[in-house]
Amino acid sequence: MIMMLLGAPGAGKGTQAQKLVDKFGIPQISTGDLLRQNVREGTALGAEAKRYMDAGKLAPDDLIIRMMDDRLGKDDCAKGFILDGFPRTVPQADALLGLLKKRGLALDHVLSFEVPEAELMARLTGRRTCPACNSMYHVTANPPRKEGLCDKCGGVLIERSDDNDATISNRLKVYRDQTAPLKDFYGRNGLLCEVTASPGATPDMVFETALAIIGRKG
Ligand code: AMP
Repeated sequence: MIMMLLGAPGAGKGTQAQKLVDKFGIPQISTGDLLRQNVREGTALGAEAKRYMDAGKLAPDDLIIRMMDDRLGKDDCAKGFILDGFPRTVPQADALLGLLKKRGLALDHVLSFEVPEAELMARLTGRRTCPACNSMYHVTANPPRKEGLCDKCGGVLIERSDDNDATISNRLKVYRDQTAPLKDFYGRNGLLCEVTASPGATPDMVFETALAIIGRKG
């Protein structure tokens, strides 16, 4: 199964992707995580991408597409995967068609997580992540059992460097301008399913809604 998760920064793509990983046993492929890993390891790709990430802008399409071509060729992708944060532009969506076609694959589901912008802001400013296993927390909505430490692996939680007010505003604008048009792109070919979280819905409730949608589509 090949799934793609769409949604603004803070919409819960990463959290839902982890639940899908647990449920279906296929890997989450997050371009943001791959870029942050490159930054941590000090690669040339990481150095180039960091300039864009720190400004809340998108990294260049060709860099992202090359990185994804490489990632999708790895053995763990054989049974399917969950795309989180890719594609983010129409040229990336076009390129994804080619990357899948050359491997004889096609997308099964595109889930778009819909959350009002005021709530996105609140979620992003309180977000904490575990750099070791990528688990996500929120200081008030979803705190870890032990302050500052990951429940899953005990790693020290960090606040992402691009989760600050100025960068968040840019990332939300970039989403509206460059990524939201993908909803039309995938709506036209009948793949798009919108998952709208009702106010106060927990991540588990959103996940149940997403599963019901996937199940209905078969
Ligand atoms: P994320 O973790 O998905 O919020 O991504 C963090 C940052 O990485 C974004 O603000 C972009 O600078 C960069 N990034 C992640 N995915 C992409 C992508 N598909 N295209 C371009 N830039 C990306």
